Amino acid sequence: MVDIAAYLKRQQKDGRLRQLPELEHPDGGRVRLSAAGPDLLDFSSNDYLGLSRHPLPLVAAADALSRYGTGAGAARLMSGDFALHRELEAALARLKEQEAALLFGSGYLANVGLIPALVGRHDVIFGDRLNHASIHDGCQLSGARLHRFAHNDCNHLEDLIKRHRGGKEALIVVESLYSMDGDICPLAEVVALKERYGCRLLVDEAHATGLFGDNGAGLLAAEGLAHRVDLVMGTLGKALGSYGAYVAGEQRLVSFLLNRARSFIFSTALPPASTAAALAAVQLLADEPELRRELWRRVEIFKSGLTRGGIKAGLGPSQIVPLTVGDNQAALDLAQRLRQRGVYAAAVRPPTVPAGQARLRFSVTNHLDHDDLSAASAIIATELQKC
Ligand SMILES: *Cc1c(COP(=O)(O)O)cnc(C)c1O
Repeated sequence: MVDIAAYLKRQQKDGRLRQLPELEHPDGGRVRLSAAGPDLLDFSSNDYLGLSRHPLPLVAAADALSRYGTGAGAARLMSGDFALHRELEAALARLKEQEAALLFGSGYLANVGLIPALVGRHDVIFGDRLNHASIHDGCQLSGARLHRFAHNDCNHLEDLIKRHRGGKEALIVVESLYSMDGDICPLAEVVALKERYGCRLLVDEAHATGLFGDNGAGLLAAEGLAHRVDLVMGTLGKALGSYGAYVAGEQRLVSFLLNRARSFIFSTALPPASTAAALAAVQLLADEPELRRELWRRVEIFKSGLTRGGIKAGLGPSQIVPLTVGDNQAALDLAQRLRQRGVYAAAVRPPTVPAGQARLRFSVTNHLDHDDLSAASAIIATELQKC
């Protein structure tokens, strides 16, 4: 048994204790730490395109709510299967240029379900060292031998494949855009290795879907690689502004997962209203490309403000901007000072990131206007230089 009191005390002492921030949400881009507190700009949201409050998903959700009620009532394979689910799967498959797609309750559930469905204890997995916790947990749960390669290092990946592949079934798992570092996987190289060595490849596009490529299909599609991966997954809870997740691939792979992925089989289907909101959001990716243009314009304003404020570090290629501080307590202190000046960004600490790399992670969304972003970038640059 864990000593619960000692554990909490130790976490507190190490600056690692997690606590709910107890926020209020006056609008899409602002949070308050108490009902009467001042508004803080929200740099921690992944609602990149602002779709959680866009009128079309709102109307679609309200319509589904009044038509079908608040919950699906059962798992898909029981009586929880709705036409809305199948329509959303078809729309996601088209978006991701795959034959078929399957919905899951969340991205976490997708990764812990599909990885153990694909590989077992006689198989091997090659995963990027910075893969998301849900991928890591899926790998553990599968019982397969996990070999982790240095972040985005394809030479290391190839070396590990040569040494450990043998005649075994092998799965490579990467993210296309890394959630805590905001950097991009060398997808073409990974695809080449997967083909050369006959491995399967799963790509997690949680943070890239909606943002990159024509129609916001993601980085795989943007690089013309959609047809050369076995499986791509993503969440509906980030740029699509809803909740839930999907995996897309060949029809027979989806049929296989429907039979084998336990987090799909034994879990209640997505609520109709969230499903309808996600479906409207996928439609918007094609219908309103200016949503993406607006986001990238905002990202540019934020980054150039940081640079003008004297930040020398590279700010990366995406809407996720990490500023590494190092020490856990220093990161917490910086987050606290920024709050006092109206900027809300969570300090990200181990084990979410490697030890000694505590950071503040800023994500830019369409909820923040140009003036917000200029003002915040100046404040952030000033406070960071005091660290
Ligand atoms: C957020 C995230 C997930 C989990 O998705 P949820 O729908 O939030 O459970 C999975 N993978 C990556 C890379 C993520 O960033």
